[in-house]
Amino acid sequence: MQIVIHRGTHEIGGSCVEIRTRQTKILLDLGLPLDFDSRPQEQQKQIRREALEWAQDADAIFISHFHADHHGLLPDTHQDVAIYATAGTAAMMHVTEVIHGRGDADYLRHISVLSKDADDRKFEPVIVGDICITPYTVDHAAYDACAFLIEAEGRRILYSGDIRRHGVKGFLYHNLPRKVDCLLLEGTNLATEKACMNEAEICERFKEQFRTDADKLHYVWCSGQNIDRIVQIYKAALVCSRKLIVDTYVAYVLEAVHRFKPSIPSPLSPFEGHDVFRYFCQHAQLKRFEKAGDPEIVQRLKALPTVDKNDIGRNPGRYVWMIRPTMLCFMKKYNRVPSVVVTSIWEGYEKDEPEFMDWIRERGFANPHIHTSGHADVKSLQAIVRHVDPGLLIPIHTTVPERFATLFPDRTIRCPQDNEPMEL
Ligand SMILES: [Zn+2]
Repeated sequence: MQIVIHRGTHEIGGSCVEIRTRQTKILLDLGLPLDFDSRPQEQQKQIRREALEWAQDADAIFISHFHADHHGLLPDTHQDVAIYATAGTAAMMHVTEVIHGRGDADYLRHISVLSKDADDRKFEPVIVGDICITPYTVDHAAYDACAFLIEAEGRRILYSGDIRRHGVKGFLYHNLPRKVDCLLLEGTNLATEKACMNEAEICERFKEQFRTDADKLHYVWCSGQNIDRIVQIYKAALVCSRKLIVDTYVAYVLEAVHRFKPSIPSPLSPFEGHDVFRYFCQHAQLKRFEKAGDPEIVQRLKALPTVDKNDIGRNPGRYVWMIRPTMLCFMKKYNRVPSVVVTSIWEGYEKDEPEFMDWIRERGFANPHIHTSGHADVKSLQAIVRHVDPGLLIPIHTTVPERFATLFPDRTIRCPQDNEPMEL
């Protein structure tokens, strides 16, 4: 078997791995570089051309999760290549395209959902030519993320995708296959020794915050697709007797996930009858979903009562409002309402939102940071390697691959360059 990491040997994001035998070629992820939008146009064109080239003679593309740095170049593939993803990943890719007004993107029609066994526990293997691919659910900030085991020509390769151990499903790494010939392991957090807080602690921090400023409105800036985080915020709101306001986009996402994971609460399907959610209708979003979203969810959203906007101002301590910087125009209507703005997303994104951050400062609102990484810390990477016990270890999705040598002194490690073919 031959492995080529097209991108990701010295970079976080834009991951793409090619695995080929004499007869078959597959790609694992086809991601957009994280800094794609800020690159000159000529470079952007080049990145798109490369993606098309890599995918051209591929027999299939397997997507580990829905973050754009793992699937964002799929629109640049040719139309008849088979794409495989978990149900959660497929649903989220669809929502992302619809909300950006691209619900008719061709590649969406070529996605096959990876199926599970009758108990809904293990994934069924997929055979492509002479390669057998088996997904394994892993814990990551993207819902329904998975790793892939690739078996062919008597060899076994495990690709971690993005993985961590401190989320609500952190224990899942115990299910990963052992004694593989090669492990391609992400190393996003290799540059820091800091241990990551787990999602249960995040929930406690939210409760503490909601109680400390009990009479204030709490805005929470959080990704609308970070389901595990939304569930922590939901739990904290429930315990603190606050209502959680979500907009059309988040309500749609939650309902889409609730359909195949009923334990995820949604404003359209309250969990165990708890009355926690309040709905904030964004009409422009609803129009986009009407055009290309699921008609049944759209109909139910249209009928959903909206939050009493005056009550937010009258009783700010009753509410937690999930927002994003694009919602600043709505937040400005409550300029005089005593508020706290919690950042529950990677801090680095704050510098990209100067108008939003200036507004928080000008209003004098507190701006605590309650967040934890979606990627494994160093201790977790070591635990994963101990469990998998691979013959060869290859770092990916990292800016400092050479750190693997220090972290894993007893392991055989190879740090290739992008596009360097490796025989296994
Ligand atoms: Zn990711």
